[in-house]
Amino acid sequence: MAAAELNIFDSEQIVILDRACLLARSLAADAFRLDFDDIHSWPVDIKRYPELRPEERAEGVFAQLFRYLRPGPVLVGGRPDYYRICLYDPAILKALAGEPKLSLEALLTYILTHEFVHVARFARFMEIFDSGRESRLAEEEIVHRETFRILKNNRMPGLELVLDLYKNHRQGGALDPPDACASSPQ
Ligand SMILES: [Zn+2]
Repeated sequence: MAAAELNIFDSEQIVILDRACLLARSLAADAFRLDFDDIHSWPVDIKRYPELRPEERAEGVFAQLFRYLRPGPVLVGGRPDYYRICLYDPAILKALAGEPKLSLEALLTYILTHEFVHVARFARFMEIFDSGRESRLAEEEIVHRETFRILKNNRMPGLELVLDLYKNHRQGGALDPPDACASSPQ
């Protein structure tokens, strides 16, 4: 499907995304005492829906995390892998259309902080990326709790509502609002 036919972020929304991304990155880096600017310890790229390969696209989720192996030789001391946060603009915009009080910046800050927490935990080997379904659900719950801990004192307008929407995810199990960080390494 051509990008023009999809409901994707406009230029103003991309500015908001960039801002949310910077904040989420620095909050997660602080929480885990890690340096997200160090490409060898923190290889992360973020792609929006129109930039995704067909196999990276999904329906009904806000974001998904993929792990890829780097092509070619790896620098001594470097990592053999990197992570890609895939954002699904259409699902995020649909949620906003359905809940007028929802703030795009607050929602993106939550989604991205959540994904960076996953990356931090995977990259620190606290969690194995290709774990089974059971441990993946447990990991989701832990990551939602950690995301809450990082964001709960932040005064960004609209964040309280987003944290409230995700409260069931912190106790495990809830499927709504969407989340999903399935793994699909190559
Ligand atoms: Zn997740």
